[in-house]
Amino acid sequence: MTPAPSGADSPPLPPGFLASLRSVFPPGDLRTDPETLEGYASDETEGLHVLPAAVVFARRTSQVSQLLSLATRHGVPVTPRTGGTCVTGGAVPLPGGVVLTLEKMDRILEIDGENMSAVVEPGVVTGEFQRAVEEEGLFFPPDPASLDSCTIGGNVAECAGGPRAAKYGVTKNFVTGLEFVLPTGEVTRWGGKLRKDVAGYDVGSLVIGSEGTLAVVTEITLRLLPRPAVSTDLWVPFGSIEEASRAAVAVMLARLGPAAMEFMDPVCLAATRDFTGRTLPHRGEAGAVLLVQMDGPNPVEVERAFEEAGGIFLEGGALEVYVAGSSSEKERMWEFRRKLREALLARCPGKFSEDVVVPPVRIPGLLELLKETGERWGVEMACFGHIGDGNVHVNVLPGGLDAAGWDRAKEPVMRAVFDAAVSLGGTLSGEHGIGTTKRDFMSLRFTPEQMALMRRIKKAFDPAGILNPGKIFTLE
Ligand SMILES: Cc1cc2nc3c(=O)[nH]c(=O)nc-3n(C[C@H](O)[C@H](O)[C@H](O)COP(=O)(O)OP(=O)(O)OC[C@H]3O[C@@H](n4cnc5c(N)ncnc54)[C@H](O)[C@@H]3O)c2cc1C
Repeated sequence: MTPAPSGADSPPLPPGFLASLRSVFPPGDLRTDPETLEGYASDETEGLHVLPAAVVFARRTSQVSQLLSLATRHGVPVTPRTGGTCVTGGAVPLPGGVVLTLEKMDRILEIDGENMSAVVEPGVVTGEFQRAVEEEGLFFPPDPASLDSCTIGGNVAECAGGPRAAKYGVTKNFVTGLEFVLPTGEVTRWGGKLRKDVAGYDVGSLVIGSEGTLAVVTEITLRLLPRPAVSTDLWVPFGSIEEASRAAVAVMLARLGPAAMEFMDPVCLAATRDFTGRTLPHRGEAGAVLLVQMDGPNPVEVERAFEEAGGIFLEGGALEVYVAGSSSEKERMWEFRRKLREALLARCPGKFSEDVVVPPVRIPGLLELLKETGERWGVEMACFGHIGDGNVHVNVLPGGLDAAGWDRAKEPVMRAVFDAAVSLGGTLSGEHGIGTTKRDFMSLRFTPEQMALMRRIKKAFDPAGILNPGKIFTLE
């Protein structure tokens, strides 16, 4: 038989595999044309591009099962994908592999107000889901900045977070049930709408955050909360990042529980202002800004919390405390934050970024170590992120280095960033995952015994090693 047309860097599919796939997927859902392959050769990770040999669009769990069982039999690597917004190479295919996209499994199957639960397919876009449950007076807090293009399936696979993780937690705190397909093709369901469930191993939890390496998620049951009646947003400029981070810790220690507390350093502020073409909310120059959201069931409680927090910020050196007076003003404040990744990429397409996390009160210490690293290597550090939950997005830009100096600095700087986090009791990633970009640094955080245990778990789920192999760790 004729091998599937494929990209230059993709070996052909084994004979027989493609013919069998044709009996599972109609022609429009099994694509090998160059344009489609190109569209699925990368995710949002800077500089990664691998053409797959084929792309399949699943519409039903049974098709996922048949594809995986065939892939296991023929030894073909499969990379699951939904929104394609991954920033660590998780959704980038393997050479000669198949991309299995679940973007067409995009139905909200149920919003159950009585149990405060919802059941969804993996391709539901996160922002659309949030709006749908809010119309019912309910609330799904995880809010990655990519929420208008990422999906619940991808959020589960990455255990996505976002600004509101400071108060509400991350995706895993809201998943109560999963249907997933093992790489051998077996369909299995775990959990449900239960709020408590300790019968047996919590196998479903292993799949959350497994970056598409253990199973393909085909249905998700989520816990919901009552929608907070009131929320208020504050934009708080400081003279320096040190003052801002210490004031943020003071607010945490006062147990005021902001729903979100984000920070942006001066490089980030300049980049987002230039990229959006809008004026920042504060007057004059600031060395850092905290963007804070307080929410709650009634206006009196929320007002008390933000006034107390405002007092702590001013005592800690805040230049002013701006309170958003309208929903458009709120939206404008958050737009600066949401556009930050694109803004920094526009300023420096060759930059790299990490999302290390430390216990929240250690943030000032982490920022100090990052500053020292930047100075030692002559690179520019642009930091922003979720200061309220200890998660810092560290963007490294070449600064004054020439091309050769920048090439030499990248690896040691990346290592120093991870070392800094681990030395403070933190880890390599708070929400973006490991993928391929951080895979070689796992030994900074895990012992050989821990790595061996993770490989044994992978083998138990995926004996043929076909599901997104080489992501998080290599199989050997
Ligand atoms: C501008 C921007 C802002 C971002 N902000 C945040 C943020 O604030 N917080 C945050 O946590 N992340 C953020 N991200 C990262 C990204 O959006 C998240 O990791 C998101 O959860 C990925 O979802 P997705 O649907 O795009 O998944 P994809 O990119 O399609 O896939 C992500 C991973 O999950 C696997 N996968 C996908 N679907 C399935 C499935 N059904 N079953 C099993 N495995 C699957 C893939 O193989 C891959 O490893 C941001 C990204 C961008 C580009």
